[in-house]
Order: sequence, then C-alpha cells, then structure tokens
Amino acid sequence: MPLTDEALLARLVAFDSTSHRSNLALAEFMAEYVDRPGVRIARNPSADGTKVNLVVTAGPDDRSRRGLMLCGHMDVVPAGDTGWHSDPFTLSRVGGTFVGRGACDMKGFLALALNRFAALDPDRLVTRIALVFTYDEEVGTLGARRLAETWTDPELLPRSAVVGEPTSLAVVRMHRARAHPGGADRHTGAQRLPAPRAQCDRTCRAGAPGTRSTEPRPDGRTAAAR
Ligand SMILES: [Zn+2]
Repeated sequence: MPLTDEALLARLVAFDSTSHRSNLALAEFMAEYVDRPGVRIARNPSADGTKVNLVVTAGPDDRSRRGLMLCGHMDVVPAGDTGWHSDPFTLSRVGGTFVGRGACDMKGFLALALNRFAALDPDRLVTRIALVFTYDEEVGTLGARRLAETWTDPELLPRSAVVGEPTSLAVVRMHRARAHPGGADRHTGAQRLPAPRAQCDRTCRAGAPGTRSTEPRPDGRTAAAR
C-alpha cells in the first residue's frame, strides 16, 4: 500500500541516518518500498559493509543511457542538542512547513522520488528511470565516490540526472562548483572556501559556478532544513 508523500517522508525522517551511523535499515526500507516485478535493485556496499548505496532501475534494457536518474543522499548531518523545538526524528508540521532532520536535505526529495517511481508501470516505460541514493554525502561524498569507483555496469545508468539537493529551493543547472584539479577537498556547495579538487562522480558534471536556470522559484516551501 503506497504511502502519501508526507507519510513516506515521516518514515524516512524516523530513520536516524546521521552520517556516522549505518544506513542499512533505511536503504532496505526504501528497496522494499519500490520492489516489484520489472524493478531491478542493486546494493553497492561500503568497504566495511556498514553503509550501502542503492541503485534502483526500471525500463528497457537498451544500453543507450537515455532516460533519467533521480539522485540523492541518504545521510543527514547530526541533529545536535540545541535549536530544536521537537524531536528531530519525528516529522512535524509548522504552518505549511515540514520540520525534521533531513526533511529538506534531502529526504523530502527521496520521498517524492520514491513515490513517483513507485507509481510507474515498469512494463510501459519507453526509457529508463533510475534512483541512485548514496551514503555519506555530508562527510565527503564517500558513497558517491565508492559508487563511481566500484560500479561495474555504467551503461545501466542514464546520463541525465536530477540531483535533489535543496540549493535554497532554486533550480540549478549542472553543478554549481568549478572543479580545480589539485585544489583542496571540501564540500562543493561551499563557494567561499578554497576551490575543490575535482571530485564529481559520474552523476554530476562540472560547470561554471552558479549556472542557474531561469525557472522561477516555487511559490511555497514544502519542506525545511533544520
Ligand atoms: Zn544534501
């Protein structure tokens, strides 16, 4: 029985997937949620087996790499002891805003992607759709790196991707960081720090910084980062 977007988001938020913890239970929940005939589920584990990237695909096996990936990360930053007026792992509503650790960055996107994917009929797809959800993005995109280094079937994944990072709820075309070989390692969203080393995985492309689309921002927020 599919859950509403809100109910599914609440389930995802309830998993404490802070980066220093295992994400296996969360990944397994999501895999079971979309599992059905015609859906292919692959698990790409970390070296020590405590984390896993999840790759879910449906659609024709034509190897053309057409189609679309919906990409996100499963981990969240620590909730901390201060600044919260409610349990960070229990989704709540404040006005028109959902509040919970990772509600915006980025389990809100994961919930929407899972439900849109679950609503598809795999037998009627004319092009491939993939969900690529990684671990440890918040501590150095370790899961994406592991996936790029160990994934043995790149032709299974479409070239085009939507990465559901909040980016201040604005649409950003391509990647907003410029890659500098030999630069320092850091989060690619931190523009004021020294230039990052080229560390994009194959789900993103280095482009000019701040290359934003002209699409208007959404009228209202549906989730909030806390
Ligand atoms: Zn994020």
